[in-house]
Amino acid sequence: MSLKVLKFGGSSLSDAHQFQKVAAIVRAEEERRYVVPSAPGKRYDNDTKVTDLLYASHAAAVKGEGFDEAFARVEKRFNSIIADLGLALDLTAEFDTIRRNIQNGASVDYAASRGEYLSGIVLAALLDFPFVDAADLIFFTESGAVDDERTYEAFYELTKKHDRAVIPGFYGRAADGSVKTFSRGGSDITGSIVARGVRASIYENWTDVSGFLVTNPRIVENPRPIDVVTFRELRELAYMGASVLHEDAVLPVKAANIPINIRNTNEPDHPGTLIINNIRAASSSPITGIAGKRGFSIIHIEKDGMNKEVGFTRRALSVLEKHNVSFEHLPSGIDTMGFIIQTEALAGQGETIAREIGKAVDADEVELISGLALIAVVGRGMVRAKGIAARIFSAVARANINIRMIDQGSSELNIIIGVDEYDFRSAMNAIYAEFFPQD
Ligand code: ASP
Repeated sequence: MSLKVLKFGGSSLSDAHQFQKVAAIVRAEEERRYVVPSAPGKRYDNDTKVTDLLYASHAAAVKGEGFDEAFARVEKRFNSIIADLGLALDLTAEFDTIRRNIQNGASVDYAASRGEYLSGIVLAALLDFPFVDAADLIFFTESGAVDDERTYEAFYELTKKHDRAVIPGFYGRAADGSVKTFSRGGSDITGSIVARGVRASIYENWTDVSGFLVTNPRIVENPRPIDVVTFRELRELAYMGASVLHEDAVLPVKAANIPINIRNTNEPDHPGTLIINNIRAASSSPITGIAGKRGFSIIHIEKDGMNKEVGFTRRALSVLEKHNVSFEHLPSGIDTMGFIIQTEALAGQGETIAREIGKAVDADEVELISGLALIAVVGRGMVRAKGIAARIFSAVARANINIRMIDQGSSELNIIIGVDEYDFRSAMNAIYAEFFPQD
């Protein structure tokens, strides 16, 4: 039978009503058998996440101040969830232990992890699933990386013992035996490790949006959702500013060829976005996503015959290296070359660096152009479709926008164009409208 791992984010578990939605989702399919909860998140805009209350409790304890107030809020959050769910569960002993441990100098990771730990106990009681502590399943090495061997061995044992379980997100056990958390938002990583560990057929990541959108809704109004995206496309989009899953959350399932399905707890019938490995998968549009960022500069170099000069690029690059500046793209012509650099990385040294490059390569001309925005048009369908670049360029030209730079990755997975920052919004909208006309 196929087996599904479900991770629920903090907003999916912010109160009893949300817990009920989660339980209904898990119960809806027999395959949904391993569940990874976050700590209760915000119920409304300026609410505080349980994790943040725990960080605050720990910080106060370290300063020798009382932390009763923050900790009482944690207790209250859980007690009202338990009461509203009508569960016969009493966490008093757990609260006492946690309070005592924080008081007695427990680590910040221990304190922060207790939100997921308690959330897991409550969800396990609600679902009537066994609760299995993540500290007995996920292990870290001395250097702080996940200890794959010990971890996946533990999951193998788990599946022999329990055919279903609730496993709290966000933490595991350090090499010295103490509790260690991932970075913030780390329950996504736990979900991915669990999916790999139990050999799931799919990793469902339940959150408060119905998957990824084709482009940024703050730039293009009401963009449509992406139905299927590959891991590679996702990396291109994330690099260019789309906020997607943390890289560490992708690796375990990607390695095991397990797809991720981003789903919405508040709209459970929406299929969400499916993230898959197969770069050749069919796609309904040649374009999967459009992402962009402001804040780039170009150092543009011109020199007749540069293409014949051995070591030209190296000499130019050595100047960047000397200033410890990395570049993002390097579009080039026969007699021209441009280093695209994040303006911030130039740290105000742009003019100096441009001059030094000019000297190093004996250029005919060097120019620093700032105020550039880059737009990445990403799609696995581009390789097979003809004329995509032409459509992008004419859409932008029709909007009366000058393209300052073009770069097509050799993977034919993306085309990147540079426009002036003040043209950014119009260019994004023009490209979106070309490929996704309002239907
Ligand atoms: N609760 C943790 C945080 O707020 C981890 C998570 O939600 O993924 O960062």
